[in-house]
Amino acid sequence: DGVIWLDGELVPWREAKIHVLTHTLHYGMGVFEGVRAYNADNLGASIFRMEEHTRRLFSSAHIMNMQIPFSQEEINEAQKLTVRENNLEAAYLRPMVFYGSEGMGLRADNLKVHVVVASWNWPSYMSPEAKEIGIKVRTSSYTRHHVNISMCKAKANGHYINSMLALQEALACGCDEALLLDVDGYVAEGSGENFFLVRDGVIHTPELTSCLDGITRSTVIGLAKDAGYTIKERRITRDEVYIADEAFFTGTAAEVLPIRELDGRQIGNGKRGPVTEKLQTKYFDCIHGRDEK
Ligand code: PLP
Repeated sequence: DGVIWLDGELVPWREAKIHVLTHTLHYGMGVFEGVRAYNADNLGASIFRMEEHTRRLFSSAHIMNMQIPFSQEEINEAQKLTVRENNLEAAYLRPMVFYGSEGMGLRADNLKVHVVVASWNWPSYMSPEAKEIGIKVRTSSYTRHHVNISMCKAKANGHYINSMLALQEALACGCDEALLLDVDGYVAEGSGENFFLVRDGVIHTPELTSCLDGITRSTVIGLAKDAGYTIKERRITRDEVYIADEAFFTGTAAEVLPIRELDGRQIGNGKRGPVTEKLQTKYFDCIHGRDEK
């Protein structure tokens, strides 16, 4: 039920369909966003960091050489419209840019760029317990190899193949999430989250060479700096994670999520640490507009 914005028009949820020869379905060239709305009112005004997400969508498309036939303002309006029309209060929004079925094959030159904005009711991604006690993570045998540097600024469909394989592998081992390494063996990120660790009161996070330039990542870095913490963006090794005092993931879906174990090794005292808890509280205050920065 509800409506989806497709190429400038609102269509009923069930009728928002694509053809089986949709180019992006076959070759994976497309870009997308994951956005959250919290406490949305009728104006749909509580879409968290909407402008940043829209800007990243356009940057991702530009990197992939796809020309979005709408302005950023129009995509912002589309997001507000779907939240409002679907009467949502706590929602997940999925803007996506893809090639249609106007042509087949890699050489197709008559392809059109289409845009969809879907939104649905989605109050929480991880359970309240996970947010409180933390999750179990497994280092993946899949790396961020084929995306490498281009992963940082582009949120592109094709970048998620290794994310899915890594997550499936982690879930099959009884863990909750995967930690992917880069080609050199340094920590990159989770399947859909950025990574942080805390050691001796200093916060460390991988530099932007093999992970997505996450909007939650930059929000949390800002909150941490405001709270007086030192943040080091640098290469992190796997053994550093084992001996960290605390570790956590950040992401639009995961928010701030404590990690209590990596590869069967307890991290810190195996509970959500004090720095993680503090940043989690600050992040929740921020998304709920109690401390909008
Ligand atoms: N890394 C990957 C691979 C992601 O898919 C995401 C989610 O979008 C993130 C990190 C976190 O980014 P953000 O905080 O912008 O949601």
